[in-house]
Amino acid sequence: MNIALIGSGIGGLATACRLASKGHEVTVFEKNASPGGKIDEIYMGGYRFDTGPSLFTLPELVDELYIAAGEPVPPTFAYKKLEVLCKYFYNSGENLIAWSDQQKFTDECVQKLGEDPSNITKYFKKASLIYKITADIFLFNSLHKVKNLLKFSVLKSLFQVHKIRFYKTMHGDNKSSFKSPLLIQLFDRYATYNGSNPYKAPATLNVIAHLENNLGAYFPEQGMYSIVQHIYELALKKGVRFNFNSLVTSIDIKNKKAVGVSVEGKTFAFDRIVSDSDINYVANNLMDHPRKKQIKRLEPSSSALVFYWGVNKEFPELDLHNILFSGDYKEEFNNLFQKKTIDTDPTIYIFVSSKMVKSDAPKNCENWFVMVNAPANSKENWNELIRTTKQNIINKINKCLKTNIEDYIEHEKIASPITIEQNTLSKGGALYGNSSNSMFSAFLRHPNFLKSVKNLYFVGGSVHPGGGIPLCLASAKIVANEIPAS
Ligand code: FAD
Repeated sequence: MNIALIGSGIGGLATACRLASKGHEVTVFEKNASPGGKIDEIYMGGYRFDTGPSLFTLPELVDELYIAAGEPVPPTFAYKKLEVLCKYFYNSGENLIAWSDQQKFTDECVQKLGEDPSNITKYFKKASLIYKITADIFLFNSLHKVKNLLKFSVLKSLFQVHKIRFYKTMHGDNKSSFKSPLLIQLFDRYATYNGSNPYKAPATLNVIAHLENNLGAYFPEQGMYSIVQHIYELALKKGVRFNFNSLVTSIDIKNKKAVGVSVEGKTFAFDRIVSDSDINYVANNLMDHPRKKQIKRLEPSSSALVFYWGVNKEFPELDLHNILFSGDYKEEFNNLFQKKTIDTDPTIYIFVSSKMVKSDAPKNCENWFVMVNAPANSKENWNELIRTTKQNIINKINKCLKTNIEDYIEHEKIASPITIEQNTLSKGGALYGNSSNSMFSAFLRHPNFLKSVKNLYFVGGSVHPGGGIPLCLASAKIVANEIPAS
């Protein structure tokens, strides 16, 4: 079959590889000049920055693309398991190392926070159980096919669904799991891994602790953008054709069947069309979508304000991933989702890839990716918000690391919800499609296909099963399984 793919985000690239491996002719149309969408990189001075994702879990979903393509395993794409998941710094002056080794992490929590060790063991067991119960239903199959819901494994899981406490919030569940408020805040933070609010998102999302703490976090040996480079090379090897600088302006539908795409005035016929474009963009710009109103009503996930700083000093107290927590987490999320602004004492994430990839910064220097959660753009005064937030960030870093960071920043670039939207066409620059701020979110997320339009499929972070690299890779697998081999 002749298949068109709209967009070369990770979901699009992975689908292209899988479909080409099944013998299809695949043509990708990408509006940007290079592949990757939200996963991108920039160079400034002697520094290299991954501009989007920094945390990498379930790397086997990338390996699977090589296996599906009949390529040797282990693949050329190499990654390392992290020993330190993250370093946490609190306003109270305490700090904590989240070791990947669970015994070491437990010892750390007992010594520094006085936590009961059995609470930690129980928590990770619970997270593993949530994964066992939900992975088949919510991650690796379409939720929108009766046949999938009738599978024995899924039925078995459905009978255990009460154990996943979907009726509680993440925070509610974490509060009843730990004594230490600092540990509650640490695990509440996992809601931000899909752009949500832990005070609203269902406790089912505490499954994220299983991915990070039980299965482990990883880092590609050549940085995050190398994930895209490797999948892109694999796609080329399997014969996928790429058209960059090509904005798809409509999905052409005849007699309730998708029959082609239009690219800047020219139409191209295809047997199947797969869209990796944000579903809001699709519904508003590319087709007469039957669920347009429903899509519009859904709350976008959070976006981000990111400062990429070339820093001409080394900070041994930092690791690859670092968090400087806010003092009032509830208020921070209230500001983010209700007041649609950035807290004056925001949680700051500092990612320093040069800790692992030495060539990412000049000698004795570091490449800082400094991010705070931001509301998806709804016409905030971004110039003012960026100016005040930058100052708040600098003050907080200076206090926490006892430094004067402004003296060491020699290069700077900024990404905001506006630039993220411009680059990737995601609504308001949302990082993860829609938020999971309700217990129904998983069911309201757009399906991977439409019953009313044949031969049209949807992948990527704005559709089932959701945002983030692993889920986008899972969506590619679901869609590729829907299209029979050539
Ligand atoms: P996208 O990346 O959204 O790309 C879509 C592509 O389609 C774009 O290239 C766009 O140009 C193209 N396109 C859209 N419409 C058209 C059209 N009409 N015609 C042609 N081309 C079109 N995830 C993690 O797992 N871990 C993290 O640590 C993490 N951190 C993040 C930090 C930031 C700052 C950002 C921005 C994202 C982060 N994410 C993280 C989220 C993750 O990057 C995304 O969920 C994922 O990359 C989205 O992939 P996608 O397949 O949905 O496509």
